[in-house]
Amino acid sequence: MSTPLGEIPLLDQHAHSLLRAQPATLREFRACFTESEAGEIIDRHVPWSLFYRRAIRDLADFFGCAPDEDAVFEARRARPLDRLTREMFADAAIAAVLVDLGLRADAHFDLESLRRLLPCPAFPVLRLETLAERLLPEASTWRDLEDRFTAEVETAANGGLRALKSIIAYRTGLALERWDGGALERAFRETRDVFRRGRRRLESKPLLDALVGRALWVAARRRLPVQIHTGFGDHDLDLRLANPVWLRPILEDPALRGVSFVLLHCHPYVHEAAWLAAVYPHVYLDLSLTVPFLAHGAAEALADALAMAPVTKILGATDAFSIPELFWLGARHAREAVHAATESIGARGFLPAAERRDAARLVLHDNAAALYGIVPDG
Ligand SMILES: [Zn+2]
Repeated sequence: MSTPLGEIPLLDQHAHSLLRAQPATLREFRACFTESEAGEIIDRHVPWSLFYRRAIRDLADFFGCAPDEDAVFEARRARPLDRLTREMFADAAIAAVLVDLGLRADAHFDLESLRRLLPCPAFPVLRLETLAERLLPEASTWRDLEDRFTAEVETAANGGLRALKSIIAYRTGLALERWDGGALERAFRETRDVFRRGRRRLESKPLLDALVGRALWVAARRRLPVQIHTGFGDHDLDLRLANPVWLRPILEDPALRGVSFVLLHCHPYVHEAAWLAAVYPHVYLDLSLTVPFLAHGAAEALADALAMAPVTKILGATDAFSIPELFWLGARHAREAVHAATESIGARGFLPAAERRDAARLVLHDNAAALYGIVPDG
């Protein structure tokens, strides 16, 4: 199926792994098209989300089936996962993917298994909060946790890691504070008790602030980019605290000037993110999840970002997870958004036709290749 800019490979700089057990029912499949976990949203409202309706039509074209969700679900179920994945990644012309392996890791393929399924290279990204949650029950004190955490980040950095990633915006927000040893030890004990009672989700602001701060320090020494979720995402986040302008003290810190920060998603703070990318040499942004969840609004979001941030500051990504269809759709919508945004900007006199292809190539591929040091075919 032809897509605008289909000849430019997409370097997908932010995505997740695929579910080992693919959706067994149409409802499970449909649940992949919303950030909500509410049954009523999945049953009544997703079928009328514009992104989903368009997705069903596009996927029906891909499968050569009737344009309704039952037919699409049956068509995808009839294909073995390895074939479905190969065909969709090839058709989407995805050159490489950076994979955050920390999203529900128990249900998703690990990196080695994922690599066997994909027709393109996959590079690991370390999700800091998942690492901390794994280490916390083993630690005896705050200092012990901090040491174990730092050692594991270092070990991962030695093992081909391309970036660190934090979802602290979804837990306690981006306004990181400094905490003294006493407060951290108290927070450690309280959290360990919570974990012992079975709730293994790290939600302690002192611990999250301190551990992410620690990881940034490692990133600065190892020259590792750090991806930070901003704006919308998990359904239970406090959106006010996910505004990237809260990151200013970190971005101003001279000790962290060697870290490239990539602001992920950004909506509804696209203007704020674009401003930060425009003024700080070490700040970049992507509009993954915003594209495609914003449907027809995705192109405007990208045009808004380009109004302030130079073309060299915007990266392409799908934020796809769980099913190959989200990679295929994410790549398609990313190219469409770049195409539509650059055309409409061009019509207003700012990006002449002769410059649009170069701009598209930078956003879809070359900016990320340079930032993460990914060379073609490897
Ligand atoms: Zn993500």
